[in-house]
Amino acid sequence: MSASASHPQLVSIDPATGEAIGSVPVTAIESIPRLVFQAREAQRGWGALTHAQRAEVLRPAAARLKAEARRLGELASREMGKPLPEAIGEANYCADGLAGELDEIVAALADVVREDARVASTLRHAPLGVCAAITPWNFPLLMPHQSVIPALVAGNTVLLKPSEETTLVACEYAKILNEFLPPSVLTPVFGDGAQGRALVLADVNLIVFTGSRETGKRILADAGPGLKRVILELGGKDPLVVLDDADLDAAAAFAVRNSFRNAGQVCVSTERIYVDARVREPFLRRMVERTSALKQGNPRESGVTVGPMVSARQKAKVVAQIDAAIAAGATVLAGGESREGNFVAPTILADVDHSMEVMREETFGPVACVQAFATVDEAIRLANDTPFGLGAAVFGADVARAGEVAARIHAGMVGINQGCGGADGCPWVGAKDSGYGFHSGPEGHRQFAQVRVLSRPK
Ligand code: NAD
Repeated sequence: MSASASHPQLVSIDPATGEAIGSVPVTAIESIPRLVFQAREAQRGWGALTHAQRAEVLRPAAARLKAEARRLGELASREMGKPLPEAIGEANYCADGLAGELDEIVAALADVVREDARVASTLRHAPLGVCAAITPWNFPLLMPHQSVIPALVAGNTVLLKPSEETTLVACEYAKILNEFLPPSVLTPVFGDGAQGRALVLADVNLIVFTGSRETGKRILADAGPGLKRVILELGGKDPLVVLDDADLDAAAAFAVRNSFRNAGQVCVSTERIYVDARVREPFLRRMVERTSALKQGNPRESGVTVGPMVSARQKAKVVAQIDAAIAAGATVLAGGESREGNFVAPTILADVDHSMEVMREETFGPVACVQAFATVDEAIRLANDTPFGLGAAVFGADVARAGEVAARIHAGMVGINQGCGGADGCPWVGAKDSGYGFHSGPEGHRQFAQVRVLSRPK
């Protein structure tokens, strides 16, 4: 993505080919306070509807998203390099899940009655006002969707500032919702961190941010003086612990899938793997075998499962971490080299330790790092030796023992013999530097609303 000074356009570049594929006009910073004012005016009417009425306004968008899923998926794949079936899958996921999500939000925001001998109280979930939703590029449809839908049903109006890397697909997404919404209820804002910051500093009441820890800290600092409500969903450095009794085929299959999916550009990618020293060799052999079967290339080519990095900048960051680890003694078991264009080969590094940046900082690339442990206590200490706490996974045949290990890992979501995603109705939640505030499930939806308690004597 690049912006030219003479023509303030954000140009989208296909990271697989370097081709320009389209552009959107940059939103002038000076216009942001006016857009926020218009959103505030629109909020009066939108906020006066009931939760159920707002959900009904949005419900027909499901069919439109479904009808456009292929086009949206193709655009997302071209704009950020995700394999085409996964990009179409992301669009379908948003479309297919919308009706259920609307119902879940309405139920979560229903009045709650609390009574004692003296007082009868009703808890209402009222709108907060105007919401700034600021999103990353790695799930260019799902991230805006998960921020915008609960905010709207709660009665807020929303200004959506998508990543500068994926404006085209976000623009199309907003257009579809706007076929159904009144004017200024959902307003896209296009630009980079400067537009994002201007939105945070504008007269907004809620900031819903998904992105890196560094940007999250800046947003929190900017939101502080106005005591603005913030929901921060930040980065991760997810561990996988492979116990001595684990099903090694299943553990290796999970490790390869979860380290290299979306070329590792997933907040809950497996970036650190701790394997019991007694099963290190057979586990690594299985990982290497599976990694060699992956096909990397243009994400629209059939059979390709690993695309490029989203940008040259992201590639440079990933390659720098790999090179530094190799220089410090890591052993390369797969990949290790950067390829032409924005591609980084799926890489397995063994003999790593926590002195290396690749084990401490988020990589956000196709790199799986494997360290052996001697005792379960050591595995837990290593897994928790990180400021991040988003997801984690533990593989072990004795599920009770694996569960005890999982419970000692300081992350928001821990999977036992599976990834970290929970059952329907669970929130998507991080701990420690992976942010505070979260979304999904009744607990997540309620964060988009102001609780008000109305009480009367009995
Ligand atoms: P980023 O922090 O660089 O940018 C995210 C968004 O913030 C973009 O829209 C950007 O323009 C905007 N922005 C930048 N500076 C800003 C500022 N000062 N004020 C307001 N807005 C600003 O992140 P990214 O590179 O787009 O995305 C990758 C990151 O997102 C990774 O760290 C990843 O782990 C994280 N992520 C987290 C989750 C989660 O659920 N926790 C999900 C997806 C991605």
